[in-house]
Amino acid sequence: MRLPCPLCGERDLREFYYQGAAVSLTRPDPDAGADAWADYVHLRENLPGDLEEMWHHAQGCGAWLVVTRNTATHVVKGAKLAMDTKRADTKRADTKGART
Ligand SMILES: [Zn+2]
Repeated sequence: MRLPCPLCGERDLREFYYQGAAVSLTRPDPDAGADAWADYVHLRENLPGDLEEMWHHAQGCGAWLVVTRNTATHVVKGAKLAMDTKRADTKRADTKGART
């Protein structure tokens, strides 16, 4: 399997470290409560289909990526830099907060 790093291009899977589903980008607030933190740490949907996953290009540029991969077929549909994804989410949250 090859993964498309946005900075390096397509690279062999062995250059990457797999962290799991990209739930780390939606971390609860520190005071969200024990139930929210337990869900965040332990619960995963684990359904077949497209899933956003965190991959670290450890043997390449060192970037953290959000890779969209179909868990049933292993087809990789794309990858983006995690820092760009987090910034986009923060901007959306800021925009929502401005409206209320
Ligand atoms: Zn890279």
